[in-house]
Amino acid sequence: MEDVIIIGTGCAGWTAAIYTARANLNPLVLSGTQLGGQLTTTTEVENFPGFPEGVMGPELMGRMQQQAEKFGARVEYKKVEEIAKNDNGTFILTTDVGTVQAKTVIIATGAAPRYLGLENEMKLVGHGVTSCATCDGAFYRDVPVAVVGGGDSACEEANFLTRFASKVYLIHRRDELRASKIMADRVLVNDKVEPVWDSAITEYLTDDAGEVRAVSLKNLKSGEESELDLKCVFVAIGHVPNSQFVGDLVELDEGGYILQNAHSTSTKTPGIFAAGDVADHVYRQAITAAGQGCAAALEAERYLSDSE
Ligand code: NAP
Repeated sequence: MEDVIIIGTGCAGWTAAIYTARANLNPLVLSGTQLGGQLTTTTEVENFPGFPEGVMGPELMGRMQQQAEKFGARVEYKKVEEIAKNDNGTFILTTDVGTVQAKTVIIATGAAPRYLGLENEMKLVGHGVTSCATCDGAFYRDVPVAVVGGGDSACEEANFLTRFASKVYLIHRRDELRASKIMADRVLVNDKVEPVWDSAITEYLTDDAGEVRAVSLKNLKSGEESELDLKCVFVAIGHVPNSQFVGDLVELDEGGYILQNAHSTSTKTPGIFAAGDVADHVYRQAITAAGQGCAAALEAERYLSDSE
């Protein structure tokens, strides 16, 4: 029986691991499929305090892991499929390779990229549709590509892609970016970026090899339809929380985010805590996820000593 199981290895998970390990709780961290979480698919992180020159996302996550392991956190590459409660108030977690048991669970599973929901979209992932510019940008040198979305992610991806692509269309459903001013300004002055305002992709068009060659577009104000030749669409329209496996031990809001009790990372089930992007649809920053990971660790520690 573990004292603490932490599910997830993003900023929230590793921070919870550092704190619970330093409290001698010997945490077990279950990594799931994406070790290091969302920051492993980003480039430079400019706003994590303590790094005035910026730090690459994968490096930051690697350092967090090192720090957690230095204090005794153990990592297992298991994906949790279900959490159930034992009669004595402890928990049994079913994973893809067996079960593990714990007195407390910190859910820090983050969020996954949202796609447009078009008919053949998921089949085209890897064939001209993707959500990760860092991963796939370099495959599209000297050809036109598009980014969909108007937030910080879309702007960041569009700027990054100008290193490779001949042109980057920024397709947004409104005529104003949601992104922070610094990110929006940066993208709008970039000569290689061409905004396509008030528009939505209605269809991906493919060539004989099954690769994306163009998209059909609809202007949402005029209703006008058009086609745009390009080789890849980078979808950057936000995220869906990874909370599908949690069952009824925690409550979810309408967006699937785990509901925490007021001013706490605790959930409706004593002993289960939630931290980071799986529970936070407001801030969604690396540093706020790390802060929640810390809070969850302190609360789990307190819960364990209170129940002794
Ligand atoms: P976001 O801020 O939620 O923006 C999502 C964008 O996608 C919005 O522009 C939205 O349009 C659009 N969108 C949503 N659903 C759509 C759909 N079905 N079809 C077409 N467009 C759709 O998400 P994000 O950009 O991923 O950012 C998430 C959080 O991470 C934010 O807090 C952001 O500040 C942060 N972030 C920070 C940095 C940084 O500081 N370096 C980098 C990346 C992300 P509307 O605008 O019309 O709603």
